[in-house]
Order: sequence, then C-alpha cells, then structure tokens
Amino acid sequence: MTDFPTINSQRLWQSIRTLGQIGAYDAKPLADQGVCRLALSDEDAKARTLVTQWFNDAELRVSVDQIGNTYADRAGTDPSLAPVMAGSHIDSVPTAGRFDGVLGVLGALEVVRTLNDHNMTTRRPITIAFFTDEEGCRFGTDMLGSAVATGRINLDHACALTDANNCTVLQELERIGARGDEPVNQRTPYAFVECHVEQGPILDHEKLDIGVVTGVQAISWQKLTIVGSSAHAGTTPMSYRHDAGLAAARINTKMHEMCLSGHFGPDMRATMGVITPEPGSINVIPGQVIATVDLRNPDDASMRQAEQELEQYFRTTEQGLGVQILSEQTARTPAVAFSNRVQDVIDQQAADLNLSHRRILAGAGHDAQEWSRVCDTAMIFIPGENQGISHNPREHSSQSRCAAGINVLCRTMCVLASEPS
Ligand SMILES: [Zn+2]
Repeated sequence: MTDFPTINSQRLWQSIRTLGQIGAYDAKPLADQGVCRLALSDEDAKARTLVTQWFNDAELRVSVDQIGNTYADRAGTDPSLAPVMAGSHIDSVPTAGRFDGVLGVLGALEVVRTLNDHNMTTRRPITIAFFTDEEGCRFGTDMLGSAVATGRINLDHACALTDANNCTVLQELERIGARGDEPVNQRTPYAFVECHVEQGPILDHEKLDIGVVTGVQAISWQKLTIVGSSAHAGTTPMSYRHDAGLAAARINTKMHEMCLSGHFGPDMRATMGVITPEPGSINVIPGQVIATVDLRNPDDASMRQAEQELEQYFRTTEQGLGVQILSEQTARTPAVAFSNRVQDVIDQQAADLNLSHRRILAGAGHDAQEWSRVCDTAMIFIPGENQGISHNPREHSSQSRCAAGINVLCRTMCVLASEPS
C-alpha cells in the first residue's frame, strides 16, 4: 500500500465532543466542562452503548469479553493472518477532561471510518477496542480489563474486586449489562498501537507534534507507618524526642536527593504524596505518620537499587531518631520497553507527514503496556495544552493536534496491516 488516506478531522473532533457529553459536569472556574465517567458506572454504560453503536454503524463485528472489554473486528483480505489492534479506554477519573483514553478509541474508529470511506481493505484484519477500568480509581487496580485480557490478572480475582460501597466488579458488569461471553485471554494480535494524550509537559513545551513512545517506566508504591512517640512540643527537649514527623521529612528529602544524584539513572522520580501526622496538632510532636512513597524509573535495575538504598535509609533513620518504620509494598510494575520495530514505523509516518517528533517515555500507565507482553506494541503521544495537564477538567488538546496523531495512527495501522506473516 503506497497511498494513505487522510482522516476526517472534523468527524473525529465531533465524536470526541459527543462522547464528552456523557458524564459531563460544570467545572467552572477551572474549565467549562469536566468529565466523570467511572468504570462500570451508569455513565460508563451510556458511553459503552454509544461507542458500540458507532462500531456497528461502521460495519464492524462487535464482541464483548467476560470482563467487559469490547472488540470490534474488520475483516482483512487474508483471514489467516493475525489482526492489527488499536484501542484504549473510555472510563475516566472523577475529574477528567475529554481526551484521556477517548482519543485512542475514537481515533481508531476514525481510522476504520476513513478506510470505509475509501473502500480500502487491508491485508490483515483490524480490531479496535476499549478496555474496562483502565483508570483503576473505582476498584483499586488500574489497567484491569487489559491485564485480564492478556493474562496478568486472573478473571475471578478481577471480578471479586470491590469499590468503596462493596459492589464487586462482577455485580457492576452484570448490572450495566457489560459482561460479555467471549472468553478472556484469547486474543493474540499481530501488533497493538495506542494513541493517547501525553499527560505531561514535554511535547507542549518543546512544541512538537508527535511523541513516539519508547516504553512505560517501572512504578513502586509503598505505604509507610512511622511510629515515634507524641509529647509536648514545649516541655520535651530536642534530645528526648522520637519525632515521626521529622522522620517523614528526612525520608522525603532523601528521596529528592536520590533523584538529583543521578546514581539511579537520569529519570528517577520520587514523590511522598501522603504525609498524615497523628495526632496532628500544632503543639504536639507527631507520634505517628502515615506516608506514601511513589518511585518511578525507566530502568528496573536502577529501581531495585533505589528501593534498596531507601530501605537502608529507613534503618538509619530508625536508629538516628528512635522511631520505627514499617513499609508495605502496595503496587509494583516493571518497566516496559515497546517494540523498536513499531516505534520505527510510527517515526517514519510522522516524518512522512512532516510532523515534528521525538522519542518519549510514558510517565503514566497505559493499556498498551499490558498488550506489549502479547505482541509488538508501541504508542503515539500528542501534546496537551497547559503543560499537558491531565486527570483534570483543564485537560485539552486541539482538533489539529488530535488529527495529526490519528493520521499517524492511520498510516501506522495501514503499514502494519499490510505486512505478511
Ligand atoms: Zn488513559
């Protein structure tokens, strides 16, 4: 295939706007509109119905698996070949914009609509998909649907997860009619491609059109319980104290210094996002602090070294301050390197379209990292505005930026779908 079609950017934009009405709320003064479409909520159900209708209108064969992942298949000229899959998610965090996940799903749909307009049939079949509960903020596990689809998480385990009201995933799948009968862990695409807003500042800051995503960094979460002893702030001399608050502050400072040191690679990131002292009074030395540690690193070995050094520092702090530090690992995912071959295809298509581009690492988790265990996978990032702010009603990208990303997606899918076995 030498001629590539150009997508209809107006139709893509209209679809993003229309889906953005589902779960919309007034977000002034931050933005005109925010989106709240939690996984397996009534709003998610409405969004599923609408997008499934669009899949049907595009003459795709729709099937739903047992965790509610929805696949839409388009035949190729050689049915013996594995399909090229593209997709993302349509659930959202409680305070979302219109683009996170949606762009990857409706962009893939726009690719199919464009192929239909041009009466084009690819050699390989094409599958477009949306995956259940990518965000993880309702049932506590992100990338849930794609993790089940690719075998990392067991279906029964996923179905038994509960939300804050003790509703299970299974109950909610059944309540909204999203539980299908296709067995999970059955699909093995030839390749998987996901287009997504960057959700960070780099592309916007460097005024680039396209990010060719090299992989997803490793994530390590810990919950710390720091136990000291509370005492009077005025009567307790400094040398008598076991100050859990001071321990938390030192650990936070240590993490920051570790990032700046370069000893754990140039891209280590560390955040103490929760620091909750007990009893939490101005004139009482904190007897206990609950704190969290979020470490990120694109390199697994550097991540392990950082974890070990931090663990060592906990022991040093225990001795130095007379406190006790209990750490519990609450999440840990390894670094994922995307396929060089698929990255090269994306790179070439961006260049051919005269779009400025660079390789970039994904800072957040994405469905694509799950599929990368099953098949050759990569992602296309487009810049967001306002330094790429996301998980926020201010999340925004422009019609032309979305169209650029989806034109790259369209060509990438066409190239991959023309490849022989
Ligand atoms: Zn997303």
